[in-house]
Amino acid sequence: MFLRNLITTSTEIYSEQIKRLKHELKSSDAIIVGAGAGLSASAGFTYDGERFENNFADFRKKYGFTDMYSGGFYPYSSPEKYWAFWSRHIYINRYDIAAGEPYTTLLKLLSGKDYFVLTTNVDHQFQLAGFDKNRLFYTQGDYGLWQCSKPCHAKTYDNEAAVRQMAATQRDLKIPSELIPKCPVCGAPMTMNLRCDDSFVQDEGWYAAANRYEDFIRRHRDMHILFLELGVGANTPAIIKYPFWQMTARNSHAAYACINYGEAAAPKELAKQAICINKDISAVLNDLA
Ligand SMILES: [Zn+2]
Repeated sequence: MFLRNLITTSTEIYSEQIKRLKHELKSSDAIIVGAGAGLSASAGFTYDGERFENNFADFRKKYGFTDMYSGGFYPYSSPEKYWAFWSRHIYINRYDIAAGEPYTTLLKLLSGKDYFVLTTNVDHQFQLAGFDKNRLFYTQGDYGLWQCSKPCHAKTYDNEAAVRQMAATQRDLKIPSELIPKCPVCGAPMTMNLRCDDSFVQDEGWYAAANRYEDFIRRHRDMHILFLELGVGANTPAIIKYPFWQMTARNSHAAYACINYGEAAAPKELAKQAICINKDISAVLNDLA
């Protein structure tokens, strides 16, 4: 219903936008954060360019892909090669990394507030920054978890020790065969717990987080809520963006803020409630703090 009438309010003076958003942060009863890939990109955790070249030049030479995202979809001819890529990718983006600046700044901005975070990010940055994990729902999986590839059962497994070993012992873009992970129940190969198709396992923890999120929404339904959307692109709008628009439209006490470099927009119907800031997220969060 909204799609045809997108507006941006980024023509509004930036200092006015910051003032309005500061007021919302302070006066709202609850803040619901929706975070997408743009937030981690703003932290400098890009998947291409120099960061890719510094860590994956050998893979680029052999396979030709030029970013880590594409590397995850390459049809490797053996599990040894597949896990050489994935273990290095996870090691770099999940284990050998500190919390990014926009994440720690965001946590400061939320201190003392009743908040909940909904995210499609799988890089564990919210946990690394120290967010309360009972206030997080990461809907699309986590680099730190594996599942059965079939999947024969709905459980996920922590992969840290195995990933560290694979990353450290790989040679010629292959891991040693004895490190290939197998399902402890059926013996099938393990795979990443990432939502790419319908074999994604939603384990007990996933459902518990989903329930906590729904409960949070229910408890704050008609209150003064700030929906704070950070770096959510157009790829999966049905998870964060569209529900945020709909919940804002239904609640006249709600405000909707969209911070996204190059893609800050909101439907016309939300003109009075929306603050769209077309700037780097990290810079905006610093200005708010
Ligand atoms: Zn299995």
